Amino acid sequence: MSIKENIAKIRESLPEGVVLVAVSKTKPVEDLQQAYDAGQRIFGENKIQEMTEKWSQLPKDIEWHMIGHVQSNKVKYMAPYVHLVHGVDSLKLLKELNKQAKKNNRTIAYLLQLHIAEEDTKFGLDEKELQELLHSDDFLRLQHVQLLGLMGMATFTENRDQIRREFSRLKGIFDRLRTGWPDLSVLSMGMSADHKIALEEGSTMVRIGSDIFGERNHH
Ligand SMILES: *Cc1c(COP(=O)(O)O)cnc(C)c1O
Repeated sequence: MSIKENIAKIRESLPEGVVLVAVSKTKPVEDLQQAYDAGQRIFGENKIQEMTEKWSQLPKDIEWHMIGHVQSNKVKYMAPYVHLVHGVDSLKLLKELNKQAKKNNRTIAYLLQLHIAEEDTKFGLDEKELQELLHSDDFLRLQHVQLLGLMGMATFTENRDQIRREFSRLKGIFDRLRTGWPDLSVLSMGMSADHKIALEEGSTMVRIGSDIFGERNHH
């Protein structure tokens, strides 16, 4: 199936209001252009340099989402244009985002990444660290970043019950958070292999790569 057909099929399966991030990492701009021509305007990349190269070559009405782990010293390259940063998991990174957003006269939207996987290879905060961050004086001083919600990744496993349990835990944290922060609206969870479970557990934003663009050869 073509990229266009893949996008149409996924769109059809998504509940109303759920946002599709087309994860285009490692894929050539020609593939992104095909997705663009099929109406897709939101793309996710996990390397700042690669994203910036693609941004410079493709139409300017694309919203670029940084979905990977971000090194603070590279934030400046994406600060002029990035639309949403999914993987924020430290105050240090948040301060750098704030600083670079200010330099560019804009506000950068972001999600805090929670560690929900039972495997311990993934980045992210636990719920206690989340609360500490949100209540720190440093956090309250940040004027050029805007928290929109949470992001998480489930364990890479065939065990559907485990994946469901992990997504359900993230949804629980999100709901508790929203009792104090009712404006938060984004829960980014679900990839090609597990987005159906993520949607059943309350995802509002799915990040899908290989189901749109085909398998990747390398990372
Ligand atoms: C690569 C990646 C995805 C998409 O993965 P697929 O399995 O290709 O859909 C989603 N989220 C993050 C954080 C990724 O790095």
